[in-house]
Amino acid sequence: MPKDVKVRFAPSPTGRLHVGNARVAVLNWLFARRQRGEVLLRMDDTDRERSTKEFEAAIIEDLRWLGIDWDDFVRQSARQTRYDAAVERLKKAGRLYPCFETSEELDLKRKIQLGRGRPPVYDRAALDLSSEEQTALMAEGRTPHWRFKLLDQPIEWTDLGRGPVRFEAGHLSDPVLVREDGRPLYTLSSVVDDGEFFISHVIRGEDHVANTAVQIELFRALGYDVPDFAHLPLMVGADGKQLSKRLGSLSLGDLKEKGVEPQALTAYLARLGTATAPEGDDTLDGLVPGFDLAAFGRAAPRYDEGELSHLNAKVLHRLPYSAVAERLAAMGLDGADEAFWLAVRENCERLWDAGHWWRVCHGTIEPAAAPEDADFLAEAARLLPEEPWDADTYAAWIERVKAGTGRKGKGLFMPLRLALTARPKGPELGTLLPLMGRKRALERLAPGG
Ligand code: GLU
Repeated sequence: MPKDVKVRFAPSPTGRLHVGNARVAVLNWLFARRQRGEVLLRMDDTDRERSTKEFEAAIIEDLRWLGIDWDDFVRQSARQTRYDAAVERLKKAGRLYPCFETSEELDLKRKIQLGRGRPPVYDRAALDLSSEEQTALMAEGRTPHWRFKLLDQPIEWTDLGRGPVRFEAGHLSDPVLVREDGRPLYTLSSVVDDGEFFISHVIRGEDHVANTAVQIELFRALGYDVPDFAHLPLMVGADGKQLSKRLGSLSLGDLKEKGVEPQALTAYLARLGTATAPEGDDTLDGLVPGFDLAAFGRAAPRYDEGELSHLNAKVLHRLPYSAVAERLAAMGLDGADEAFWLAVRENCERLWDAGHWWRVCHGTIEPAAAPEDADFLAEAARLLPEEPWDADTYAAWIERVKAGTGRKGKGLFMPLRLALTARPKGPELGTLLPLMGRKRALERLAPGG
């Protein structure tokens, strides 16, 4: 019988989410929803110094902004007793051993190994300590950290992202699971939680592959079912260089401030690394039925802000009024209705561009007409029909202006557009004119006239 699908997204609330985390969240969510499975949001907040409630709240807000929801929520800080119980089980099974090296001593060992061209794997010196030596060290006031004793056999699994993976015994250090102060490290807490929350699939970046090797052994040692794993190549910048150092500046908060639409970001991240280009009408829900982890390639995908901007515009051009009504109101565009949005959306690359078109229709704009067109524009103003206006007013006016001034083509339309909208491009003037009304049009064509 296929197992029940349950995934988890496990951010550490030590900072804002960035595009890399968001991609992992989006892919986990799509995978779970495609399989009619569940999503657990897990706050990895065991680092008490760096984790804050503010970051936790910001992460939750960012996920909601993306349109991601979850069925279950847990904080690791609330599960210490479960980690303690797991530690006891491992100690009883003889899989956890106390170590007393300081970090300076460990650094030195690593340097010597590297100097001899050997992998910097922990040498298990602490396993040779007799219980008298251990007692003596503790009597000196030294408290141990605890390492998990890996078995002397290779660790293998079939990765849903990378295919068969194998780690040779002896190439991995016995991982530290418990710190000197008794607190669990990520490797332990993550496995206990994945095991006890019945996580079926762990989908994350390939920077975790080596963690997975030791975690698989830990799942087994603790008697939990081992989930399936999928490791995805990490994104690189458009220049092909690692993104990790720039990720701080790619927080969702920053992207939101830059006017990135959540739908554009989710569509972009959901397709990145596949052979399919994102479309302007790809909603997160709409991407669920076609989602397939197998579509993701092995090459590191390039995160390209230019492409995201381009997609952002395509998304905006198709967004229905219902998706923007509240935000237009929040921008102070009181009364911005469906007709307004449909008239201007194709000229918005960012939602706030709608503000300009709102001022064109209902407010004031910077004059942008060229001085040499003043006489032409004054004549066009004189020919402006009386109100009431309707959908045909514009065409009738243009006929009159053509006949009255002899101008046509660009020489006719560009000065009118610049005077009326302050932009060389934009929505049809015929749509805008009735929205701005005669008084406003007159002021712009013949200021003070
Ligand atoms: N909190 C870990 C991280 O942010 C979770 C890693 C995992 O998915 O296991 O990297």
